[in-house]
Amino acid sequence: MRTLKILSLLLTLIALPSLAEVTADPARIQARIDKLATFGGTPEGGTSRPGFSEADKAAREWLLGELAGLGLSIRMDAAGNIIATRRGSNPKLPAIAFGSHIDSVPNGGNYDGQAGVVAAMEIMSMLNDAGITTRHPLELLVFVAEEDGLFGSAAMIGKLSEEDLAFVTNSGRSVAEGIDFLGGVSEAVAMAERSPAELAAFIELHIEQGPYLDNAGIDIGVVQGIVGIDEWAITVQGTANHAGTTPMNARQDALLAASKLVVAVNETVNVNGGRLVGTVGELKVHPNVSNIVPGRVELVLEMRDLDHAPVAEAIAEIRERAAAIADAGEVVITIEPTLTHAAAPTDPEIQAAIQAAADELGYSSLAMPSGAGHDAQNMAARWPTGMIFVPSRSGVSHSPREFTSARELTKGAAVLYAAIEFLDR
Ligand SMILES: [Zn+2]
Repeated sequence: MRTLKILSLLLTLIALPSLAEVTADPARIQARIDKLATFGGTPEGGTSRPGFSEADKAAREWLLGELAGLGLSIRMDAAGNIIATRRGSNPKLPAIAFGSHIDSVPNGGNYDGQAGVVAAMEIMSMLNDAGITTRHPLELLVFVAEEDGLFGSAAMIGKLSEEDLAFVTNSGRSVAEGIDFLGGVSEAVAMAERSPAELAAFIELHIEQGPYLDNAGIDIGVVQGIVGIDEWAITVQGTANHAGTTPMNARQDALLAASKLVVAVNETVNVNGGRLVGTVGELKVHPNVSNIVPGRVELVLEMRDLDHAPVAEAIAEIRERAAAIADAGEVVITIEPTLTHAAAPTDPEIQAAIQAAADELGYSSLAMPSGAGHDAQNMAARWPTGMIFVPSRSGVSHSPREFTSARELTKGAAVLYAAIEFLDR
């Protein structure tokens, strides 16, 4: 019995070399980041590589060659997503998947999306270096057209609509045209949908795109979920009148009331003190003429949080303050909900695996929500999903100034590797 135990322990040790034996290579990571940056590179040092653009296609062709060189079997699904598979010792097990996207916003940076794909490539390189075969098959996923609306991951969960296919992306091509341009089959895009049984898990490594990790000098963000978004259309109805002849005490100035409301939104959200954010980013003034007291203003308010409770509390408070502002200014304020995107929580077990990986490697970590949208939120609708954040210098993103050091990316890749190893057990 004792011999059996020792034997099984030995077998475990043989199958899973300790983390110290396999290391992520910062030079290899940097070289791949630098190479990707040449496709659609801008004079400012960033990348302009919208999904479905010529630069996107060229980058993907380079990538396909690299993935083949890593010994992966590669296929493209009907939506154009790249799926590169490394065989596991037990082919009956569902795959552990990881990856991100390589398309960028126009005039974007070299890390949003790319960091996750390069880290995923690093995992495959590390496994090859160490000669390890995991139990589960591993899949490296590269989603198409993330920045235009998470279209590749939407197709993978069967949520790409006819309306989506007609949407014209930053490349100038519609989603349908873009998919065909990259070698997918837009007419058969439903074939890209995958069943829940195919994947055991999905993990996306991504730059934070916010300042929390960089400001606090923390290595790893353990993402608790992607925040929900709620939007409201607000109308302030006053009375348009002559700017010269209407006395100050006889005005129903819609813009004045709207301005007070913008301040009230900011104060209400700030009082919350958590990670709730609230923004009035759109404002239409009628008639928007310099010599007329504004008669009507339309605003759009959005709030984001991982939990819905702070959003519900804040909107109740904002409605109360709006009523008081309306009374004082003799205007009418209406607040109508227009849009709700539910939050996408990540899987608690995968969060724990990422946390354990960071702890074991001696890296500092912070549990945090993602304020930006990611393919992981679509994947979370169907498969246990996790996200690893690495620091973004000064929180800058969607800009040529976007930066994460090779050292930070290497730590992220090491955590991704260890988390995959935990899940593979
Ligand atoms: Zn991204």
